[in-house]
Amino acid sequence: MTKVSFAASAPSSAKKVTIGAAAKMRVETARADGEKFYKYLQAKKLDTVALDMGGMAPDVAAEFADGLLRASYTFNKYKTMSQKEGPQDVTITTSAPQAAETAFAPLRSTTESSFWASDLVNEPANVLNPATYADRVKAELEPLGITVRVIEADEMEKLGMGAALAVGQGSVTPPRMVVLEYDGTQGAEKQPLALVGKGITFDSGGISIKPSTNMGNMTMDMGGSAAVAGAMRALASRGAKAHVVGVLALAENMPGRHATRPGDIVKSLSGKTVFIGNTDAEGRLVLADAIAYVQQKYNPHTVVDLATLTGAAAAALGDEFAAAFTNDKGLMSQFNEAAAVSGERVWQMPLTESKVAAAAVRNTPHADLTNNSGAPGALTAAAFLREFIEKNKNGSDKRKFMHLDIAGPGMPKTELKGWGVFLLDTLVSKFYEQKAAANQNAPKPVRKHKGPKL
Ligand SMILES: [Zn+2]
Repeated sequence: MTKVSFAASAPSSAKKVTIGAAAKMRVETARADGEKFYKYLQAKKLDTVALDMGGMAPDVAAEFADGLLRASYTFNKYKTMSQKEGPQDVTITTSAPQAAETAFAPLRSTTESSFWASDLVNEPANVLNPATYADRVKAELEPLGITVRVIEADEMEKLGMGAALAVGQGSVTPPRMVVLEYDGTQGAEKQPLALVGKGITFDSGGISIKPSTNMGNMTMDMGGSAAVAGAMRALASRGAKAHVVGVLALAENMPGRHATRPGDIVKSLSGKTVFIGNTDAEGRLVLADAIAYVQQKYNPHTVVDLATLTGAAAAALGDEFAAAFTNDKGLMSQFNEAAAVSGERVWQMPLTESKVAAAAVRNTPHADLTNNSGAPGALTAAAFLREFIEKNKNGSDKRKFMHLDIAGPGMPKTELKGWGVFLLDTLVSKFYEQKAAANQNAPKPVRKHKGPKL
């Protein structure tokens, strides 16, 4: 990660660089310019650099610096023979360094939170398992004022989380639920926003084992939970005036001798029973218990889950979009707006509209639901999760619900970065922070990128 700072004049050790078009830079595109500039410095093999941005407006300089910082992410802690080259230290000289630094601070903390989440995504599964993952989250987030509670397997059993426990029982490391609560409203907002993340630290498929091609990528099957943890870090770091609860549903899906068999029937925390037709459809099982738990315990107004859930979502939308399934039009518009600003994009798929998917998840002879309802894959996974949203007396959903299937962007083939921290942070900043406080403390929504419209 490149050190990026602002100063009134260039340090003597730095190579001075000027950008001819700097004066014409605009706030909407400065972040992309910063990313390009990083690549330029990398190509020129420049290490310590001072960039003269003269009288540039502080918010433009801040966006530029954020682009530069974002482009500098690497994960090379296990490379002992060679390090990726790139600029180590960039000083941006400007007539108002303090104002630029103030504008940059919230962007920097969000970008650093995204890096922290990306590191979790990139860790191999022999390092990151449900136990070490929970430890890392606790060590990082507790000092920021986030309440962290780790629900261990024996407590999960007492609570009745039979679906999540079934997923982890073939592994030598038992599953965990990590519950994060951040209240920047000091109790004023009673009902929180709930974020739930799939955290399968390795997905072998279990007894329904996956083919070996690309199985090594299944260390990234916890990307949804990393996005949630990273977003919580971002919110607390910048003191967001919002009440947000996160649940990380952690398990390792392995074909050990105690592993769940295809054909098993388990009872979930909600009370609904599930026929496990395929042990590789495990994400929806851990999420089912996490979604039930967060509603019982916190009564959230909205439940959002992020999960690298189905190959079908990735086949439909590639790396570019997360598949978005929701029961609420307003929530969809909020996500579209946040996606356009953050650059982490979403595209709507049918949830309440699909009668086929809703019927398929109940089409099983001996249990309430099946995790193996076949095609259409992404839609049936979403319909399965919706079964765990609490219902009103008339059968309608009691809460707003958004399911983001991030199997495409959360497991990228080219750029190994976590996905979702910027989106969730922007969503909260724009729609879930107390207004008066947001004007003083939250970063201004200055980015006006064009994004997908419904
Ligand atoms: Zn799986």
